[in-house]
Amino acid sequence: MQCPCQSGLRYEDCCGRFISGQESPQTAQQLMRSRYSAYVVKQAEYLRETWYPSYRPAEFNLDDSIHWVKLDIIDALTRGQEAEVEFEALFLAKGQIDGLHERSRFVYENGRWFYTTGTQMPIRFKPWKPGRNESCPCGSGHKFKRCCAVLKH
Ligand SMILES: [Zn+2]
Ligand SMILES: [Zn+2]
Repeated sequence: MQCPCQSGLRYEDCCGRFISGQESPQTAQQLMRSRYSAYVVKQAEYLRETWYPSYRPAEFNLDDSIHWVKLDIIDALTRGQEAEVEFEALFLAKGQIDGLHERSRFVYENGRWFYTTGTQMPIRFKPWKPGRNESCPCGSGHKFKRCCAVLKH
């Protein structure tokens, strides 16, 4: 399967190798992408593991009513052991496309990047209900009714 982070690579060659634990992300952006993919493939354990312990919520469960459909990296910068990645992610909830626009912060410690927290920003579009025959907002090129409307990914 294609990697959910929309890198254009196969999942195993992209975020899959981090989520499976074979390798550690070398950059905060790779970690950001793989955390997004972990939300898509529902790997809550990976999300917990890559959350800096003092910021990690005591209770963390994936919200099954939300289906992530698209990731857009807007900006990424690294200063030594700290990094920031700004992204906007689209999700489908109750037939409507909505989004999350966040500037996330990361720290590098003991040879690994961790997510700490993020600042949420206003989304850059108006949430909308895609028509069944519209091309899917995930960018697959398929009609919505044959793609994310049936949650094939
Ligand atoms: Zn990926
Ligand atoms: Zn789609």
